[in-house]
Amino acid sequence: MKLEDKIVIIQKYFDEILPDVGCELTYKSDYGFLISVMLSAQCTDKKVNKVTEPFFEKYKSLEEINALSLEEVEESIKSLGLYKNKAKNLKGIVHELSTRFNGKVPSDKNELMSLPGVGNKTANVVLAELFKIPEFPVDTHVNRVSKRLGLAKESDDVLTVENKLKKEFEKENWIKLHHQFIHFGRYYCKAISPSCKTCKLQGICSKTLQN
Ligand code: SF4
Repeated sequence: MKLEDKIVIIQKYFDEILPDVGCELTYKSDYGFLISVMLSAQCTDKKVNKVTEPFFEKYKSLEEINALSLEEVEESIKSLGLYKNKAKNLKGIVHELSTRFNGKVPSDKNELMSLPGVGNKTANVVLAELFKIPEFPVDTHVNRVSKRLGLAKESDDVLTVENKLKKEFEKENWIKLHHQFIHFGRYYCKAISPSCKTCKLQGICSKTLQN
C-alpha cells in the first residue's frame, strides 16, 4: 500500500474514534503547564496532576515557588519518579523565568530549551499547547504507534520519528494528530496487550501482520 493511502486511513480512523482529544495535564498558568510537562518525563499525566494540582493551589505565584527550598520542593513532588532531579529543574525553571523572562514562558524554542530539564520534546509540547505553534512532539506512545504502523523504522530515534511524521502529515494537522497518537497509544495501542481485535488498522499494522 502506498504511504499516502496509509496516511488517509490512519487520519480517518483517528478522527472516527478520537475526534476531540487534547492534553490530559491540568494547568492554570503557562508556567504551571511548562513545569507539569517537565515533571511528566517517565511518569503518567494522572500522577503529575495529583502532584501539581495541590502544589499550585498552595503556591500561587512564581515568587512563592522561588522562595521554597530545594528540600521543600522535593517533599512536594516525591511521589514522582526521578523527583530529586525534577525538583532541581523545577527550581531552576522558576528562577530562570523570573530573572531572564520577566515571569513569562518564552515562545521561542531555543529559549525554552535553555531552561533546566527542557529538551526538544518538552519544548515542542509547550509550543503546541500554549502557543498553537505547529509541532509534532514524540513521546513514548507516539514513538510506539508510529513504528507499529510502519510510519517509522524500529531503529529510528525520536528525532527521526518526529521528522518523518512531520513530512508525512499536513502541518495544519500536527497538533491534533499528536494528541490522537498519544491517546491511541495510551488507551488502544498499548505497549502491552494492545486492543488489536477491535482495531481497524490491523490491515496496515506491522505488529498484527507479524502475528
Ligand atoms: S492492530 Fe494492534 S498493534 Fe496495530 S495499531 Fe491496532 S492496536 Fe496497535
